[in-house]
Amino acid sequence: MSVKNSGAKHRSRKRFGQNFLVDQHVINNIVSAIGINPADRIIEIGPGLGALTEAMLTDCQHLTVVEIDRDLADILTERHAAKPNFTLHIGDALQTDFAELTAHQPIRLVGNLPYNISTPLLFHLLSYRHLITDMFFMLQKEVVDRLAASPGNKNYGRLSVMMQYHCQVQPLFTVPPGAFEPAPKVISAVVRLVPYSCIPHKASDIEMFEQLVKTCFQQRRKTLRNSVKLLAGDATEEINKIIDLSARPETLSVADFVALSNQLNITN
Ligand code: SAM
Repeated sequence: MSVKNSGAKHRSRKRFGQNFLVDQHVINNIVSAIGINPADRIIEIGPGLGALTEAMLTDCQHLTVVEIDRDLADILTERHAAKPNFTLHIGDALQTDFAELTAHQPIRLVGNLPYNISTPLLFHLLSYRHLITDMFFMLQKEVVDRLAASPGNKNYGRLSVMMQYHCQVQPLFTVPPGAFEPAPKVISAVVRLVPYSCIPHKASDIEMFEQLVKTCFQQRRKTLRNSVKLLAGDATEEINKIIDLSARPETLSVADFVALSNQLNITN
């Protein structure tokens, strides 16, 4: 499908998850939710034809955009390269070193994210959490439901636990398919993620915690005992004396996973 935006024509590419925002009301809602302070350093991931970019450029002094599609990069260059507050980085956000990109300065991240890479991208961004003030992302509503899910909910899983460990998750509003061109098949939603400056429940060994959560949700139908056995071997029954391992992973809160991971650390 060919999308026309302020004079430029672009054939949208499915492999880059290109669904362009065309509803000005939704664009305004996102920009007003961000609440831009002129001094903010904003990085937009996947600017596309610049629907959000243009709206943000009027408000902020430092906007860097990361776009993988060279055709779109050409359009963006033609329109905005002369503006002193605009910087274009052509490349894959999954491979981008956001610390280098921003010279280790605090950043706010924004994006109507390509849905096909949203989960790996969220994990990639977690490695820059110490630099990130907050993130405003448009995602599939189903992904936002998973990010915000509580224990016991069918959407609760590895993504929920890992993101809630590091960030406060605030679902903001849903967006219907008609707000995009071409229209996606699914409902979208905007979420705000705020990395904690002080993690509420801190794991003594983050790698152990990540491994535990991953292993548990790879076998979410089984009891915790099965997953713990893979990590602790013979020490499993000792751990069971302190933490009941007959529960299913989806019933554990973030704090429970941290407690179990810390116990694994002591026992191993
Ligand atoms: N922000 C625009 C809008 O709201 O209209 C476009 C959003 S579109 C859903 C996703 C954008 O991300 C496209 O411009 C696409 O080319 C870009 N993109 C896809 N994969 C990317 C990647 N790995 N790194 C950077 N940009 C990517």
